[in-house]
Amino acid sequence: MSYNVAHVSADPEIELLNRLGGLFTGSLSLNDNIEAMLRATSQMVAFDAATVFLLNQDGRELTAIATYPHRDEVPHIARFTVGEGILGFAVQQQTTLNVLDATQDPRFKMLDQSRPPRSLIVQPLATPQRLVGAMTLSRQRVDPFTELDAAILKVITNQAAIAIDNGRLYEQLEAHLDELEAANAQIAEVSRLKSEFLANMSHELRTPLNAILGFSELLRDDLAGKITDKQRRDCLDNIYTSGRHLLSLINDVLDLTKIEAGRMDLVYEEFALESAFREVLNVVHALAMKKDIEITSAVEPADLALVADKNKVKQVLYNLLSNAIKFTSQGGRVQLRAGRLGEDSLRIQVQDSGIGIAKELQHKIFGAFYQVQSASNREYPGTGLGLALTKRLLELHGGSIDFESAQGQGTTFSAVLPLKPGPSKGNRVLVVEDNPSNLDLARMVLEGNGLVVDTAASGQEGLEKARHLRPDLILMDMQLPGVDGLAVTRQLKADPATAHIKVVALTANALKGSEEQALAAGCSGYIAKPIELKKFMLQVTNFLEKE
Ligand code: ADP
Repeated sequence: MSYNVAHVSADPEIELLNRLGGLFTGSLSLNDNIEAMLRATSQMVAFDAATVFLLNQDGRELTAIATYPHRDEVPHIARFTVGEGILGFAVQQQTTLNVLDATQDPRFKMLDQSRPPRSLIVQPLATPQRLVGAMTLSRQRVDPFTELDAAILKVITNQAAIAIDNGRLYEQLEAHLDELEAANAQIAEVSRLKSEFLANMSHELRTPLNAILGFSELLRDDLAGKITDKQRRDCLDNIYTSGRHLLSLINDVLDLTKIEAGRMDLVYEEFALESAFREVLNVVHALAMKKDIEITSAVEPADLALVADKNKVKQVLYNLLSNAIKFTSQGGRVQLRAGRLGEDSLRIQVQDSGIGIAKELQHKIFGAFYQVQSASNREYPGTGLGLALTKRLLELHGGSIDFESAQGQGTTFSAVLPLKPGPSKGNRVLVVEDNPSNLDLARMVLEGNGLVVDTAASGQEGLEKARHLRPDLILMDMQLPGVDGLAVTRQLKADPATAHIKVVALTANALKGSEEQALAAGCSGYIAKPIELKKFMLQVTNFLEKE
C-alpha cells in the first residue's frame, strides 16, 4: 500500500490553487514573481487589464511596475499616493475593494482615457508583517467580479506578497553580504600585512641583535685572537650602534601603537625651524656621506619659528630624510626646503633624485608595515613604519603630508604644519580666580588663542560651574576666599562626575611646598603666579594635550 497519494480534485480551479503554492517558492527575483502572479491570475480570472503596484521605501507612494496583458502600459499609469483614488484607498484601509463601475465611484481617478476601467477589483499585496503593494484587475465593461474571483485573487496575492517580500529581504541581505565580503577582504589584507610585518620585524630585530651578540662574544672569549685597540673600539662601536638601532625600531612600534590608541601627548614649545633642520641633518649626514649624496637645505625666512613638539617634528624630518637617502643611489641629490604657506602654516619639502614610486603603489605607502620592495629584498632595510608614523605625527599637530613621485625620477614629500596649535578645537577652560585683574588677563590670553573660557570668582562657584559645564581644563587659584583651591580640587576629584577634569593649580611662587600640596590634592600640575604671558599659553596647551 502506498501513502503517496496524489492530490486529486475534480474542480480545476481548486487544483490550480493547489499548484499555486509551488509557483512562488522557486525564485527570489521580483520580476519572476510578479510574472508568475499575473500568469496565475490570468489563468483563473477573466479580466481586460491587470496592474501590479509596489509601495515605495517610505511607504507613502504606489508605483506601477507591471501591467498585463498590455505590457507597455506601465509608463501611462501615474503614481498614487496612499489614500488617493480607489487604489490608494484600498491600500490605506488594507482591504479588498470590488467595485461594480469604477467610473461611477467618487474616489475614481481617471488616468488612461483610452481604456477606462469599469468593473474593478483592488487587492492589497501584504504579508503578515508588511504591506508590499497592490494588484488591480479591471474589465472595460460593467461585468462585476464574483466572490470566487476575489477569493482566488486573495490567495494568489497572499502567496505573491510573501515571495516578493522574501526577494526584497534577499536583496538587502545580498547588499550586506557584499559589505561583509569587502570587510572580510580588508581583514584578510590587514592580517596578511601583520604577518608580513612580523616576519620583517623579526628580521629587523635579528640583524642588530646578531651584531651585538657576535661582537660581544668575540670580545668576551678573545675569539679573534689578539686584537688592536682600534679593532676593539670598532667592535664596541658596532655593538653600540646596533643597540641604538634596536631601540629606535622598538620605539617606532611603540610610538605607532601609542598614537593608534590615542595616548600620544605632544609637548609644545616654540623653536626655530632651522635648529630642528640642523640637528636632524647632523644625524643623517653620515648616511648621505656613505653614498656620496649631496644634501642641501633652505628655510625661508631663515628665522621661521613655530610652536610644535620639536622632538616629533625632528622625527618627521628624520624619517623623510633617511628615506630620501635610502632610496637614492650613489651620487644623487636630496633637498630639504621649508617656507611659509599662507598666514598660519608652513610647508616642509624633502626632494630626492632617487628610484621613485610606481603610480599604482603610491596609495599604499602611508599604510603601516607597507614597503614597496618586498620584505625579502634586503637592499632597502626598514620596517615599513616610518611613513605611517610620519603621517600620524603630522596629523596630531593638525598638519598633513602628500607627495609626488615618478618611477626612476625621484620623489618629493610635502608636509604642512600649522605655525602654532590651532584655535584649540574649542577646548573649554574654567578659570577659578578671585582677583578680577588676574582673571581678565587669563581670559584675554586664553580667548585670544581660540579657547572657550568660563570664570568663577570663588571656590564654591568653581565647583558648581565645573559640575555644570564639564570643562576640559580648570585653572585653579590656590588662595581663594572661603573654600580654598586645594579643598575645591579634592572635592572635584572625589566626585565621579568631575574626577576626570584636569585641574592645574595657579600657585604663588613665594609659598614653599604649595606645589606638592597641589599635586597631592589631585592637580595635574601647576603654573607659577604671576603668570608669564609668553609661556602661559604653551603651558595651558600642553596640559590640554596631556592624557
Ligand atoms: P621603510 O622606509 O621602513 O621601508 P616607510 O614607511 O618609511 O618604511 O616607507 C614605506 C615605503 O615607501 C618604503 O618601503 C618605500 O618603498 C617607499 N618610499 C618611502 N619613501 C620613499 C622615497 N623617498 N623614494 C622611494 N620610495 C619611498
